[in-house]
Amino acid sequence: MTPDELRADLVAQGRSLFERGLTPGRTGNLSVRHRDGVLITPTGSCLGFLHPGRLARADLDGTLLDGPTPSKELPLHLAMYRARPGLAAVAHLHSPHAVAVATLAGLDPDSALPALTPYFVLRVGRLPLVPYGPPGSPFLPAALARHAAGAHAALLASHGSIAGGATLAEAVDAVEEIEATARIYLLTRGLPARPLTPEQIAELRAR
Ligand code: ZN
Repeated sequence: MTPDELRADLVAQGRSLFERGLTPGRTGNLSVRHRDGVLITPTGSCLGFLHPGRLARADLDGTLLDGPTPSKELPLHLAMYRARPGLAAVAHLHSPHAVAVATLAGLDPDSALPALTPYFVLRVGRLPLVPYGPPGSPFLPAALARHAAGAHAALLASHGSIAGGATLAEAVDAVEEIEATARIYLLTRGLPARPLTPEQIAELRAR
C-alpha cells in the first residue's frame, strides 16, 4: 500500500468498527507501521470520524514526527511492535463483551478466553491477560511485554483488547474475533459449553 492508501485504510477500518458499536465514544486506537515509525490515531479521537490528513506519525521510541498528538496508548502499540517485529498493524478496542470479560474475577492469566470456536484459534491463538494498570501509564506497556510474550493478542484487565497483525485487516479481524468469542463465552457461561480439545486445537495450529 502507498502511504495515502494506508491512511485511507486506517480511516475506513475505524469508521467500520465505530459504526458497528465495537468501540464507543472516543475509545480505541489503530496504528500501522509506516517507514521507520508508525501512523496512529490522534489522542481523544473517535474512530468513526478520523481524517486521513490528521493522523499522528511517531518513531518507534514514541517521539512525534508529525501530525497531531498521538493517542496516549501509543506506548502500548509500540510494546506490541517491539516484541513482534513481524507485525505491521495493531488494533486496540474497548468493545463491550471483551470489556465485560476483562472485568471478571478468576480469569486464567495465560488464556483469558477458552477456544470455543476454530476461528478463535486461527485468528487470535492464545489470549493472555495483562493485569490492570491505569490507561496511558508506563505500567501497561511493561506488563504487556511481560505477560503477553509470544502472543499477538492480549486482554487488558478492566480495559479492553489489543491485537497485532501482518496487515491492519488482520489486526482488526483478531480484535473482532476476541469480541465475538467474549460474547459467546458470556452467552454460554453457566451452561455445559464444550471448548475445543487440545487435539482439535493442535490440528488447527498445524495448518
Ligand atoms: Zn484503551
